[in-house]
Amino acid sequence: MNNEIHILPDAVANRIAAGEVVSRPAAAVKELLENAIDAGADHIRLVFKDGGKSLIMVQDNGKGMSETDARLCFERHATSKIKAPDDIFCITTKGFRGEALASIAAIAKVELKTRRKEEPAGTFVRIEGSELVSQEACSMNPGTVISIKSLFYNVPARRKFLKNDYTETKHIIDEFERVALAHPGLRFEMLNGDNVIHKLEPGNLRKRIVEMYGAAYNDRLVPVEESTNVVTVGGFILKPEFARKTAGEQFFFANNRFIRSPFLKHAVDSAFEGMIQKDLKPGFFIFLDVAPTEIDINIHPSKTEVKFSDERIIYHILQSSVKKALGKFNIAPAMDFDRDTAFDLPYSKELSELKQPSIGFNPDYNPFHQEEKPAKSGGTGNVSGWKPQERTEREQHNAENWKSLYETPSFDSFETGGDQAFTFPAAVDFKAPSFQWLQTYIVTTLKSGLVVVDQHRAHLRIVYERLQAAAESQQSATQQEMFPRVFEYTPADFEVLKELMPVIRELGFDAEPFGTSSMVLRGIPAGSQDTDFAQVFDEMIEARKFNREDMLQFREVMLRKLAAGMALKRGVRMNTAEMETLLADLFSTSNPNVTPDGKPILATLTSAFLKEKFKL
Ligand code: ADP
Ligand code: MG
Repeated sequence: MNNEIHILPDAVANRIAAGEVVSRPAAAVKELLENAIDAGADHIRLVFKDGGKSLIMVQDNGKGMSETDARLCFERHATSKIKAPDDIFCITTKGFRGEALASIAAIAKVELKTRRKEEPAGTFVRIEGSELVSQEACSMNPGTVISIKSLFYNVPARRKFLKNDYTETKHIIDEFERVALAHPGLRFEMLNGDNVIHKLEPGNLRKRIVEMYGAAYNDRLVPVEESTNVVTVGGFILKPEFARKTAGEQFFFANNRFIRSPFLKHAVDSAFEGMIQKDLKPGFFIFLDVAPTEIDINIHPSKTEVKFSDERIIYHILQSSVKKALGKFNIAPAMDFDRDTAFDLPYSKELSELKQPSIGFNPDYNPFHQEEKPAKSGGTGNVSGWKPQERTEREQHNAENWKSLYETPSFDSFETGGDQAFTFPAAVDFKAPSFQWLQTYIVTTLKSGLVVVDQHRAHLRIVYERLQAAAESQQSATQQEMFPRVFEYTPADFEVLKELMPVIRELGFDAEPFGTSSMVLRGIPAGSQDTDFAQVFDEMIEARKFNREDMLQFREVMLRKLAAGMALKRGVRMNTAEMETLLADLFSTSNPNVTPDGKPILATLTSAFLKEKFKL
């Protein structure tokens, strides 16, 4: 018989498994941190170098391993955490698949030092590409130190796909923060080389969040608490006014394990509905505890996707507990609770302790507060408070051309559509004065027809091109601030920000990183004082996180944001001279038709259209 199937050797199987388990350095970090927690450590320290490519070291004071276990742990399916088949339906540890160390050992050079309390000395094991290189006794404190060196040294294809160090560092920080948030009772340290990024003292969750994200968070947190026999909900939401454009702090933990769940996120979003603008995302640190038998963690190797047996019920409990939290803190409008259906569900009997929340609300709270700046209006003269800027050389050149747009149309410039009956009195003066309509549009006449210009977008285009030209020629004007402003960032965002500093300065900001997590802003691009800088920087950081290739793109994000903030608002009254200048400036830009992000600036009512309308 000629059989074709054979069983893969473990070393090969491990390397294949490694593709799933250790997709990047951060994934190895997560596994090592979780092993330390499973070992009962209360002090865990992570040191990494070069985005984890050259070194990831995790040191713990946990229970350690025996001499034999120190070798066995690198074998496939080697685990101390489950024994019987049914155990996987009742997981109380982080790990259980027994494949992390085997996978890591297959694709890296690993050194393990470990000692159990009861042993007089530790043992030191070296493994390279699944091969045991050496094992000897060593002296050390009880606990385990595991170092992964040269990750993917024997998998060039994967090494090639790693992003730059900066990106991998960012992922490592994210992983670390998730684990540290899930375990506020443990002491954690994280160092990038010699640089201490986090040093977290044991405490409660609030303390951990504040230590990690900054003192300002203390006032932003609203506790969420609900205890039912299906699930216990705990943790915090951020007050609605701290919702962000970008999905910043959004954390779910199920049985103290960070999980991703678009489904549960929807429950939180819906609880915030009506309290924050649609495009903003609420912040939350929510802990869900269910019986280990009611959650399946084994649906994905990374264990961040889980399945709850009562997913729909959990959805509703979560939704109502978030609403209740918002209500309790007088920040929810009362009507929000009228359509709360969470309590109509069949399980409500069992949840008798879950009472309809009594609601107080703050009648003055307006989630859209910042949006509703009253339109400025003034007297005569410069009514808008808006001052046209000097034209640049390029604009001046363009300006010569745009004048032709105003020329009186001749017969020829009308598409008569073959309708010979139509004649036009030649002597009409077409340059009628421009006027403003609804304090939003400027109506004017051009060769092409009657043109309606959106004043905000028109000015945005103008400002954008000026900022762009200044940045390109390194001549951005800076306006010094009377009081320097300080912006606080998470360590991960701070890393991004530091990288973006050259772009930020190029745009005319006088800014610099300060301490370990802040940026101090001493000067801003001239004319940009009404801009929400915190938001601009947030968006830039986010753009950088999701699109790492092109620095120019961040400048672009920034330029558009700044321009939007600096541009004349709708609702501002303008006098004739101002309108004329704005139009002249607009038609001196490279593209008066659309904004930098492609939205129309003007609409034209052509004579052809009118003829059609009037059936001429
Ligand atoms: P799993 O965590 O799924 O059991 P791993 O490959 O991550 O599988 O680890 C294999 C085994 O090695 C664990 O079950 C545990 O017994 C042991 N181990 C790993 N890391 C440590 C550590 N830091 N301290 C003590 N024991 C550890
Ligand atoms: Mg493990």
